[in-house]
Amino acid sequence: MEVFTEMQVEEIVRIVVEQVRSRLLADEGGPAAIAPSHSTGIFDEIEEAVAAASEAQAALLRLGLEKRGEIIQAMRNAAVANAEVFARMAVEETGMGRFQDKVTKNLVAALKTPGIEDIRPEVMSGDHGLTLEERQPFGVIASITPSTNPSETVVNNGIGMIAAGNSVVISPHPGAKGVTLKAVEVLNQAIQEAGGPPNLLVSVREPTIQKTQDLIKHPKISLVVATGGPGVVQAVLCSGKKAIGAGAGNPPAIVDDTADICKAARDIVAGNSFDNGINCIGEKEVLVVETVADQLIEEMQKCGAYLLRNKEEIERLVRLVTTQEGQINKAFVGKDATSILKEIGISAPKDTKSIIFEVQADHVTVMEEFLMPILPIVRVKDINEAIELAVCIEGGRHHTAVIHSKNVDNMTRFALAIKTTIFVKNGPSFNGVGIGGEGYTTMTIAGPTGEGLTSARNFTRVQRCVLVEGFNLRGKAQ
Ligand code: NAD
Repeated sequence: MEVFTEMQVEEIVRIVVEQVRSRLLADEGGPAAIAPSHSTGIFDEIEEAVAAASEAQAALLRLGLEKRGEIIQAMRNAAVANAEVFARMAVEETGMGRFQDKVTKNLVAALKTPGIEDIRPEVMSGDHGLTLEERQPFGVIASITPSTNPSETVVNNGIGMIAAGNSVVISPHPGAKGVTLKAVEVLNQAIQEAGGPPNLLVSVREPTIQKTQDLIKHPKISLVVATGGPGVVQAVLCSGKKAIGAGAGNPPAIVDDTADICKAARDIVAGNSFDNGINCIGEKEVLVVETVADQLIEEMQKCGAYLLRNKEEIERLVRLVTTQEGQINKAFVGKDATSILKEIGISAPKDTKSIIFEVQADHVTVMEEFLMPILPIVRVKDINEAIELAVCIEGGRHHTAVIHSKNVDNMTRFALAIKTTIFVKNGPSFNGVGIGGEGYTTMTIAGPTGEGLTSARNFTRVQRCVLVEGFNLRGKAQ
């Protein structure tokens, strides 16, 4: 899988070499030594954090756009240099995901998040004059971050929100506070070293749900951005403020009888198992047309999927990954396939990526979002049934869907019916967020509120400035 272009790889190498050089200089007490007076951005109370962020935002605006661009570049460099640190800390702290995939996600967030170029003004001119639509910052933004992409979301939202001229109060998931606060600290340091103000990115030392709720209500917060499950999206939508909600997904992958089955198998297993299934965009169930179902299952096994062969094995899996109350058993979120299989008495090769099994469409593993490398497969008689079921399974979350097909009509019909924010054709789901696919990246995919793949422009207010009767240079003579 090619995630980065040659130029991006060169950029990563350049940044890492520069970082190592700076560290060596720092060890010698040279110019790269970090000033002890720099703020970490971490406070005890929400009140202090918001006040500091508010002051920082005003200072940012005084610096101008060129400096803001340098600050963004410094944030990128620091995030690239710390990608492995963040990845390791996240795996250790949360017990979820895969180190290498987290490194990839951190690098993509650092390098493929749009910067200040994303907030260019729009211009209209005509017989009545010149109108300019400029993008102004909101001010101080509350960004509530998940446990599944902790540092990645700080890097991605941090770059986008600051590029738009805001400061950011990060509200970490309590279960990922160590790595989230580390990312806040690293970026703060980088911003200050680049000549930016302290506290553009702040957080609190001991995050709790109560503190998040206090933050949402804080009068100085003018935009709330939630990246997480349905609870937090609901909380920000009820805030009475401008809110961006990036919620849960349950992406179906359709395979029709025209698809390249080997590629479909490879892509679906890669997408489902990426970071052990904890990505909201990851393929969570497969709907395959029955004439190609056996072949797909066979090919998936060649790509590292382990097939559960009977009802009894499937029932054991379901008992493991759900609680007695029928909820998702969080103990197995983000665990690797081999250890999940071991828990149900199956010894599988160490490099097993996903657990596959055949069920009916109304099965709990199909209808609910399991953030694990488990992948139910549903046989359907044709594309019509596949589309109808996929729409029902996606459940109006407007998140992500995937199709493997060579039939443009099938792909078009599915896209129109499912109305997801991300719609990937003939590739793994992560191609949809710039990992090995074209386009920029985001870690905040706003399906419920409709912004889509958020970037700096979504963190601005549009102001229309109208010059009447002047500067219509195309349509008037002297
Ligand atoms: P989570 O909903 O448990 O937590 C996310 C954040 O919200 C945390 O900071 C948590 O402390 C806070 N929170 C949760 N409930 C809250 C409430 N009632 N009031 C205030 N704050 C609350 O999510 P998670 O387990 O960390 O992450 C996984 C979930 O997030 C999955 O459902 C996944 O699909 C989704 N997700 C979506 C996106 C996206 O871009 N759409 C990105 C990443 C994760």
